[in-house]
Amino acid sequence: MVQLLNEIDTYTIILLLMLAAMLTLLIFSMLPRKAEQQEKPSIKTLIRCVDGHEVERDFSKGDYVGKKVECPQCGKEATIIAIYSKQALQPRKP
Ligand SMILES: [Zn+2]
Repeated sequence: MVQLLNEIDTYTIILLLMLAAMLTLLIFSMLPRKAEQQEKPSIKTLIRCVDGHEVERDFSKGDYVGKKVECPQCGKEATIIAIYSKQALQPRKP
């Protein structure tokens, strides 16, 4: 009789542990993913060189469309033609 009770206790504990594990997994899956939230869109500046090619570089303070800059590739005169944010492709949240 005592042995049977002990067995029931063991199974009960195992069941409770499994339930706790499932609840933990459920809670973690419902938490917002911090890594995705902290991902910032990077701002890019598109430059057109007098040579005709276009160069994309990271936005730097003071950039504006129409600004005359030095081409980062060949050093010739270039003009900023676009500034935009570029988000890394990621699956949409449900
Ligand atoms: Zn150039």
